[in-house]
Amino acid sequence: MLYTYHLKTPPEGFLSITAQVKGAVAESGVQSGICVVFCPHTTAGITINENADPDVQTDLLLAYRAAFPDCAAFRHCEGNSAAHAKASAMGSSATVIIENGILLLGTWQGIYFCEFDGPRNRTFYVKIIEAR
Ligand code: ZN
Repeated sequence: MLYTYHLKTPPEGFLSITAQVKGAVAESGVQSGICVVFCPHTTAGITINENADPDVQTDLLLAYRAAFPDCAAFRHCEGNSAAHAKASAMGSSATVIIENGILLLGTWQGIYFCEFDGPRNRTFYVKIIEAR
């Protein structure tokens, strides 16, 4: 089963998509399998990280800004190479095990769509594969 979702994003930020992914798993009816969350964009990504303290997402964004600052030597004509670098480092997907009909996320884990070059209209996919 494939589920498609659309988001309007801020200039930068981590948007929780845990509820949408859990909803897709519930709708699929799959009891045991794999869930892949995929971002089809080159300046955004997907990650799993802490869902309790929102300051963690803020700090991750600060860490990415520090790790991938804008650089006058960048050549890409669109002028958003730092965002491309952040997206590559973050990765464009996350995989979570489904067992007994629920995602095996840790208590403190949430799934996030990571915007590095917004605001934009974005899409992400959730693919659910049943284990045999
Ligand atoms: Zn670009």
